[in-house]
Amino acid sequence: NPIPDLLDALRESLVGVTDGQVAQYIPELAHAEPGWFGLALATLDGHVYASGDADRPFTLQSVSKPFVYALALTDRGLDEVVSRVGLEPSGEAFNATRLEPGTGRPPNPMVNAGAILTTSLVDDGFPRILAGLEAFAGRVLGVDERAYESEVETGDRNRAIAYLMRTAGSLRADAEQSVRRYFRQCAIQVTARDLAVMSATLANGGVNPVTGVQVVTRDTASHVLTVMATCGMYDFAGEWLLRVGLPAKSGVSGGITGALPAQLGIGLFSPPLDERGTSVRGIAACEELSARFGLHLMRPP
Ligand code: GLU
Repeated sequence: NPIPDLLDALRESLVGVTDGQVAQYIPELAHAEPGWFGLALATLDGHVYASGDADRPFTLQSVSKPFVYALALTDRGLDEVVSRVGLEPSGEAFNATRLEPGTGRPPNPMVNAGAILTTSLVDDGFPRILAGLEAFAGRVLGVDERAYESEVETGDRNRAIAYLMRTAGSLRADAEQSVRRYFRQCAIQVTARDLAVMSATLANGGVNPVTGVQVVTRDTASHVLTVMATCGMYDFAGEWLLRVGLPAKSGVSGGITGALPAQLGIGLFSPPLDERGTSVRGIAACEELSARFGLHLMRPP
């Protein structure tokens, strides 16, 4: 099977890349080793191929956003969710404070404002979020309590965003409770292997290809992939779609999850980030995987 060899070769070709900086805003992220590098690929027949630090746990951070969006769509339906959270790429940083004039809607569910609002739309709070993400990953997941506590202590910008949405009338739930729930989803621990399976579940029409469990509907999976394609990479979304051509989501711990619909899921982990907060080696690895396997959605085989 050429896939494991290819992942190993790809990892070796990129370990020497030393650009980027590990996130510094909380100690739990600042202590990450710049050399950690894990890659995983999950196919829809349930095989998972991995290389390097693919089983090293890290906090999900913003990679949680598309999966929690899937749960909100399940609980509230597309129309209600869209009436509360927009669908347009913001072209701004992940923690921008701009809301839609008039409605106060956050621009999309992938920036922090949209994610905080989305989280408030999931029924039954954090236990349902954790159970839902576990179903996507196909295993029991833990929460990094120290990372969570650090976010609670330092996350005032996210609080400011939540209170702005309160005054704009778009956030109807309690601001502090919504922000804490968001911090907690960001602190869920996963591996690159999990990220591959989570994306493969979306690529597989909502059915986890390893466990066989239908986690969300086909429609929900396709809605989430669409929003990942247009908004998943923040102010890099346009160039990402051009270069890699896959729906994806990045996070500040260095994780990237990506999917090729009806084919496979990709999980990447490498903590050093570029100035936009995306894993440097993760971007390079996705570009390379897309080119070598011919994964670009807009390029017919
Ligand atoms: N917990 C981080 C925050 O909200 C997540 C940001 C990210 O991963 O992009 O600041």
